[in-house]
Amino acid sequence: MVSGRFGNSAQGTTQTYTYILYTSGFIHHTTLTGLAPNTRYFYRVGDVATGFSQEFSFMSHPGVGPTMSYTFGVVGDLGQTTYSNNTIWHMVANSSIQSIIHPGDLSYADGDQTRWDSWGRLAQPLAATKPWMVAAGNHEVESWFSQEFTAYNARFQMPSVNPYKNASGNLFYSFEVGPVHVLVLCTYYNFTQGSPQYEFAMNDLKSISRARTPWVVSLVHAPWYNSNEVHQGEGDAMMAVFEDAFYGNVDIVFAGHVHAYERCYQTYKAQRDPKAPLYITIGDGGNREGLYDTWIDPQPVWSAFRQAAYGHGVLQVTGTTATWTWHTIDTDEPVASDQITLTKSA
Ligand code: FE
Ligand code: MN
Repeated sequence: MVSGRFGNSAQGTTQTYTYILYTSGFIHHTTLTGLAPNTRYFYRVGDVATGFSQEFSFMSHPGVGPTMSYTFGVVGDLGQTTYSNNTIWHMVANSSIQSIIHPGDLSYADGDQTRWDSWGRLAQPLAATKPWMVAAGNHEVESWFSQEFTAYNARFQMPSVNPYKNASGNLFYSFEVGPVHVLVLCTYYNFTQGSPQYEFAMNDLKSISRARTPWVVSLVHAPWYNSNEVHQGEGDAMMAVFEDAFYGNVDIVFAGHVHAYERCYQTYKAQRDPKAPLYITIGDGGNREGLYDTWIDPQPVWSAFRQAAYGHGVLQVTGTTATWTWHTIDTDEPVASDQITLTKSA
């Protein structure tokens, strides 16, 4: 497609929401269909009556298949500090990143809805150019004087085409891209046995074809394996419900919540196990609450690497390998500080 030539258009919906004394600006959502795969599209947002935004561009979905390669940027607990800004621009600068997966805690608006607006402006250089798939963390709940997840559900439309969409908004969903199936769950919405989220997750895991997507990644907010002294045990209830179902079925679980980085070994029931998911906590995007640098000593047998520093991760997947790198903010350069490769036979 060509810059400055807008031959196609898509009609969207427009909404606002209110939160105590705040009324949001217009929030527009539209779904683009019939795009050619892996093609750069130039676009602008608006209409003739009110005017148009500047031009942006994005690459369309490349398709799904076991021999494809795909690269995610991974960020958690981002916020809107100078560290957050560094993290965002490091991901913008890495042209190998095709989309962002974000296991919760986005703006840290914490009830001040104007902070969702400022976060949108901060995130725009990345959000306008790459798909950004979000999970809801505790900072998305915002239940004071309001319905839970009001801003989150108004501002982010994730592909929750599951039969529970009306009950849950965007809180749990799945999608596939390249050789990867991604299952997104919410730590702060009912996940007990028999709940809509539980039924969705179990059915989703059953529906996965490893011949089509050899890799399965899941996002949750509170980590199930965490050797930081902060937020101990907050993922335990969810782990008790899902750990058996994930065993042998999920390759990597990303969490945030703990404002530090921790990579665990593949772990099942607190023991290293090569059939179990690899657990990674990436809650170090840069939010205003700061880093958590107190670790449980001695380091548990399932914990491989842990460090309290700001940064983001890159997950580069082929049909047979998944390479994970963690990039800390060091002066103005992203520095690869941890790396691991998982392999599976073709
Ligand atoms: Fe957080
Ligand atoms: Mn959190």
